[in-house]
Amino acid sequence: MKLEYMKRNLPNIIPACIVFVLLAIIIIYAFVQIFSLKDDVARLTSHLASTTETLSRNTSTLEGNISDLRSQATGLSTSISNTQQNIDAVKTQVGGVEQTVGSISGTVGTLKKLSQTDPELLRKYSKVYFMNENYVPAHLLEVPKEYLYSSLRAERYLTESWPFLKVMLDAAKNQNVPIMIKSAYRSFGEQQSLKSSYSVIYGADTANSFSADQGYSEHQLGTTLDFITSGLGGQLDDKFDKTEAYKWLVANAYNFGFVTSYPKGNNYYVYEPWHWRFVGVKLSRYLHDRKINFYDLDQREIDTYLAETFD
Ligand SMILES: [Zn+2]
Repeated sequence: MKLEYMKRNLPNIIPACIVFVLLAIIIIYAFVQIFSLKDDVARLTSHLASTTETLSRNTSTLEGNISDLRSQATGLSTSISNTQQNIDAVKTQVGGVEQTVGSISGTVGTLKKLSQTDPELLRKYSKVYFMNENYVPAHLLEVPKEYLYSSLRAERYLTESWPFLKVMLDAAKNQNVPIMIKSAYRSFGEQQSLKSSYSVIYGADTANSFSADQGYSEHQLGTTLDFITSGLGGQLDDKFDKTEAYKWLVANAYNFGFVTSYPKGNNYYVYEPWHWRFVGVKLSRYLHDRKINFYDLDQREIDTYLAETFD
């Protein structure tokens, strides 16, 4: 009976068995996998721990290195700062040496200029101060005709002060103020014959009032000029101080190194508004700024400007 029952149900039992066996295999496989995973996780955990440890060691080493580097950098910075200080100290020393060298070369330059500058150029000549009849300026050039009042007579002027005169006359011309040279350098002999001719024409007393005796004339220096402008008929007289030319000279000539030697009310000579002398820019500015006449300044003080006459 039992056998019969089994035979009848066999087709149903076999699939169930297969399902059971398959389930068992799957479960076993799953268990195997889970255990294997567990092992992997353990291995990974241990590996992670070891990596973390290594990392921590490396981090610590790195921190040590960074700290070392920091202290080295600090040392380096101190060392750079010391070096900079040394450089600064050397610079200061070099600066001091340069200054000394500069001041020595400045002194040498001044002495050289002094030795090359004719001391006569800043001497006072008038009724009181006499110039040697043999005195002749070292360098004279012929003034270009365009600057002269009359092209009939050549005029000579001191070579070194010519650039100052030229620039001044050009500046006046550019401002439409005509200033021409009536007379520049006159030698002792020329002054002598000029005075004689004036004495013959006007009589000695009159001639004395407007023409310096030879040896007293600044024209012998080569730095001095009689200027004239248009509208005066070529005559040098007091009317010159009413002209634009005179006003321009009073306002500007000191910037080019020129002064009027015999201004109104001076104690040395008759008033000569047309008569201008080159004394150098530094001295002429000094005189202008303090409203001092050249002839009223002490000769020793004047001489301190000699080296800079042509600066
Ligand atoms: Zn003159």
